[in-house]
Amino acid sequence: MKCSKVGEFTQGELSPYGNIQLSPSAGVLNYGQAIYEGTKAYRKENGKLLLFRPDHNALRMKLGAERMLMPSPSVDQFVNAIKQTALANKRWVPPSGKGTLYIRPLLMGSGPILGLGPAPEYTFIVYASPVGNYFKEGMAALNLYVEEEYVRAAPGGAGGVKSITNYAPVLKALSRAKSQGFSDVLYLDSVKKKYLEEASSCNVFVVKGRTISTPATNGTILEGITRKSVMEIASDQGYQVVEKAVHVDEVMDADEVFCTGTAVVVAPVGTITYQDKRVEYKTRDESVCQKLRSVLVGIQTGLIEDNKGWVTNIN
Ligand code: PMP
Repeated sequence: MKCSKVGEFTQGELSPYGNIQLSPSAGVLNYGQAIYEGTKAYRKENGKLLLFRPDHNALRMKLGAERMLMPSPSVDQFVNAIKQTALANKRWVPPSGKGTLYIRPLLMGSGPILGLGPAPEYTFIVYASPVGNYFKEGMAALNLYVEEEYVRAAPGGAGGVKSITNYAPVLKALSRAKSQGFSDVLYLDSVKKKYLEEASSCNVFVVKGRTISTPATNGTILEGITRKSVMEIASDQGYQVVEKAVHVDEVMDADEVFCTGTAVVVAPVGTITYQDKRVEYKTRDESVCQKLRSVLVGIQTGLIEDNKGWVTNIN
C-alpha cells in the first residue's frame, strides 16, 4: 500500500515474496524513517488460524508513525492486511504447538529526499515467514547480562516506539554478550544507569513473593503487547502487578525474573550477571512465569476460551 505525504493509503494487493525497488535517496535508507511491527498467526488444534490482538499492533504503529512524522494506515487497513497475509500463507503455518507464522508489517518513507526531512511518499508492506518455537528443545531459561557501556534509548528519543533506528545500535552489545555465552542483554536507564529498562527485543518482569514488578513505560522502553497481556493475566490470578522504576539491586534480589515478547512469549530467566555478581533464579515448573505462560499460550492457540476478546479467528 502506498501513500503520499498528506494522502491516505491506497488499497493494497497481495504479491509473491520478492525484492522491492527503492530510490537510493529513499527516506528510509538515508534517515531511517520507518516503523515496524511483529505479530503471529497461531494455528488451533482444529487447523483454523488465530491472530492475537492485531489492533494493538495497529495502534502502536500509529503512535510510532506520529513520532517519526509519517502517515499511517488506518486500524482497519492494518488489521485487514495482516489477515490477508496470514490467509494467503495459510499452508505455511505450522501445526498447533510446533510453531507459528511470524508476520512483519513495515511502514517506511519510500520516496526520495536528499536534505534531512520527511519523505514525500510512504509504503506499507506486510510479509510473513513460518517460525519454529523460540526454544527448539522445550523451554530453556535465558541467561542475561546487564549492559553498562551501551544504552538502548534515552529520554526524549524513540525508544518507546518500534522505530527501525532502535535496533542496529543494540547489535554490538548483543553480539558481545552472545559471544560470551549469554542469551541477551538487559539494558539500564541512560541517566543513572541503575534502573532496569528491557532486553534487546523483550520486556522484563521481576517477581518477589506475590508482587510482580515491571519497568514503567516512560518513553524509553517499548510497551509490549505481550507485556500488557501478561500484566492483565497476572492481576486476574491475584498477583499484585506494579509498574515502576525497578532498581537493578531489586532484580538481583528477586525470586524469579522473566521476559515477555511476541518471539519469546513468556520466558524464564535462569541467570543474570551484573558486574561481578551472578544470580541464579528459580525456573521450576510451578513458577509464576510458567503459570502465566500457560494461560497466555492457551489463549493464543485457542485451547483456553478467550473471554477477553483478544483473539481474532480468521477462517
Ligand atoms: N521490547 C522491544 C525492544 C521489542 O522489540 C519487543 C518486540 N516487539 C518487545 C519489547 C516486546 O513487545 P511485544 O510483546 O509487543 O512483542
